[in-house]
Amino acid sequence: MTIATELPAEHTLDRGADQATPSEAPITMLNPDFPFSYDHYLAHPDGLAVVPPELYGTEVAVIGAGLSGLVTAYELMKLGLRPVVYEADQIGGRLRTASFPSAPGVVADLGGMRFPVSGKAFYHYVDLLGLDTREFPNPLAPATSSTVIELAGEKHYAATAAELPEFFHEVAAAWKAAVNDGAAFQEMQEAIRARDTARIKQLWNELLPKLDEQTFYGFIAASESFKKAGFAHREAFGQVGFGTGGWDTDFPNSILEILRVVYTDADDQHRLITGGAQRLPEALWNHAPSGMAHWPEGTSLASLHSGSPRGAVDRIQRGADGDLLVRERWGRETGYPAVVTTCQSWLLSTRIHTEEALFPAELWTAIERSHYMQSSKTFVMVDRPFWKDIDPETGREVLSMTLTDRLNRATYLLDDGPDKPAVILLSYTWNDDALKWLALSAEERVKLMLHSLEQIYPGVDIASHIIGQPITVSWEADPNFMGAFKANLPGHYRYQQRLFTHFKQDRLPEGQRGIFLAGDDVSFTAGWAEGAVTTGLNAVWGVVNHLGGSSVPGNPGPGELLDELGPIILD
Ligand SMILES: Cc1cc2nc3c(=O)[nH]c(=O)nc-3n(C[C@H](O)[C@H](O)[C@H](O)COP(=O)(O)OP(=O)(O)OC[C@H]3O[C@@H](n4cnc5c(N)ncnc54)[C@H](O)[C@@H]3O)c2cc1C
Repeated sequence: MTIATELPAEHTLDRGADQATPSEAPITMLNPDFPFSYDHYLAHPDGLAVVPPELYGTEVAVIGAGLSGLVTAYELMKLGLRPVVYEADQIGGRLRTASFPSAPGVVADLGGMRFPVSGKAFYHYVDLLGLDTREFPNPLAPATSSTVIELAGEKHYAATAAELPEFFHEVAAAWKAAVNDGAAFQEMQEAIRARDTARIKQLWNELLPKLDEQTFYGFIAASESFKKAGFAHREAFGQVGFGTGGWDTDFPNSILEILRVVYTDADDQHRLITGGAQRLPEALWNHAPSGMAHWPEGTSLASLHSGSPRGAVDRIQRGADGDLLVRERWGRETGYPAVVTTCQSWLLSTRIHTEEALFPAELWTAIERSHYMQSSKTFVMVDRPFWKDIDPETGREVLSMTLTDRLNRATYLLDDGPDKPAVILLSYTWNDDALKWLALSAEERVKLMLHSLEQIYPGVDIASHIIGQPITVSWEADPNFMGAFKANLPGHYRYQQRLFTHFKQDRLPEGQRGIFLAGDDVSFTAGWAEGAVTTGLNAVWGVVNHLGGSSVPGNPGPGELLDELGPIILD
C-alpha cells in the first residue's frame, strides 16, 4: 500500500521542474536536511570544478569501489586528478548482482535493487551510461499484476489498491493524516516540488528538534488518527506499510529517517536496472568520458588502474611529511595529499586501523554510535514465470507478489518474459526478521520459506519449478560491510549532522584535514543509492578545495551552500 495511492497520481517523470508549474513539478530527493539540487549541479555545462594545471595527475586515494567510491573517482578523473581506488572485494559494493551458475543471464540483486525516479543524481549516471531500466514489481505497483496480503492467516488478493478491503484504506488514511498533522507532509512535498529551499528549511528546522527523539512507532502511536483507528490499524500498517511493503522492523528507528523517505518519494515509482544493479558501478569503472581536463580520450578508471583496483586497506595514518599513508592488507603503503573513504564508516575502527588523531573525538562518537540495519535476501530460479498461470477455480493468478506476517515477510516475482527462467525473491527482510535467517543455511532458509508460502498458496507446488541452487545473503555476516545500511535511532541526528558536514573542513585543525567520508551511511538517506552518489559529490568538492581547486563560476558546489542550506546544529 503506497501512500501515493491516496494522493493525486503524478507521472511527471519526463518533465523537468523547470518546465512544469510548481504543483506539477516532480518530487526529487531534495533532502530537507540539505536541499541542494545535485541534479542541477551535475547538469551544469561548465562542469563541477576546476583544478590548477600544476595539480593534474595528483593521486587521491578512494577507498571502496561501490557506487560512492566510483562516482568520486570518476568525477576526480574528469577534473584531471588521478584517483587510486582500493577495494576489498568486488567492484559494485552493495550494488551486487549474482548470477545463477547454470543460467548466467538470470540475475539476482543482493543489495540495492529498486531505485526511485526521484533520485535524480543516481539517474544522472544511469542515463549517462545508457543503462536500460524498467518498473520494479513492488506491491500493488502498476507493473505487478497481482498482490496478496496475508495477515493473521487471512488472505486478500488485489490487482490494484482499490480492490483491497476498506480496512486497508483506513490504514492508509490514518498514515496520511498522521504525517500531515504531525510532520507537514503535504506542505513539505509542495516545497520540494517547487524546490523552495527556504520553505523546506523552515518546515524541517521546526520539526527536527521536536521529532529527533521520537521513534517511528512512537510517532504513529501518538498520532490522533492512529489513536482513533486503534491497535489493529497500527499493527497492519507495520506489516503492510507503504511503497515497498512492511516497515515495522523500522519501528524503533527515528521518525526523521522515515520522513526523509516519504517526503522525497523514495518509497515510490521504483525502477530496476535491466541485467542487474551492479551494471551501474561496472559501467562507471569502464566508461571513458570525453572532454576531460587532462587525461587523453579513451581514459577510464579501468585504464588508469590497469584493469583492477588496489587491494583491501588495513591502515590509514598521517606520515611525517604530512601526507596520508594508506596501507594495503599485504603491506604496500602509499602516501596521498587526500583520501576519501566510502566503506561503511564502522569499518574505520573495526577493520582499518585509522589513526585516531585524524578525526575529532565527536566524529568518532558519531561513527561508533551509528546504527545499522541487518538485511537478508533469498532467491531461487524457476523454470518459467508459472505464477501467471490462472487457477481455473478462482480465475486468479496462482501466485502473487506477497506481503505476509510470516517469516518470509515479502516475496517478489521477477521475470524477463514468458518462456524463460525466472526468479523468485522468496524473502526480503530487515532487522529482527533478517536475524532469524542468519544462522541458517541456504537450504534451510528455502525450506522454511517454501513452507510459509504453502500455507498461503495451498496446492501450488513451487518447489517443483525450482532449478539450480538458491542464492542467499545476510549483509551483516560479510566482514566488508558488517550490516546492510544505516538507520538512525532517536537522538542520533547530531551524529548524522557531524558525519554529513565533515567534508567542509575549513574549521578543522590542519592535522585533521584531507581525509573525507562519503558513502551511504554518511548521507541522510542511508539505504538509498542516491545518498551514495551525493555524498561522493560532496567528497569531490572537499578534495578539490583541499588541493587548491574551486567550483566553476555560476555552479556553486555543496560546500559553498552548506552554511546556508545545511543541517542545523542542535544544542
Ligand atoms: C539489502 C540492501 C538493499 C538495498 N536496497 C536498495 C534499493 O532498493 N534502492 C536503493 O537505492 N538503495 C538500496 N540499498 C542501498 C544501496 O545499495 C547503497 O546505498 C549503495 O550501494 C552504497 O554504496 P556505497 O558506495 O556508499 O557503499 P558500498 O557499496 O558498501 O561500497 C563500499 C565498498 O568498500 C569496500 N571496502 C570495505 N572495506 C574495505 C577496505 N578495508 N578496503 C577497501 N575497500 C573496502 C566494500 O567491499 C565495498 O565495495 C540497499 C542496500 C542493501 C544492503
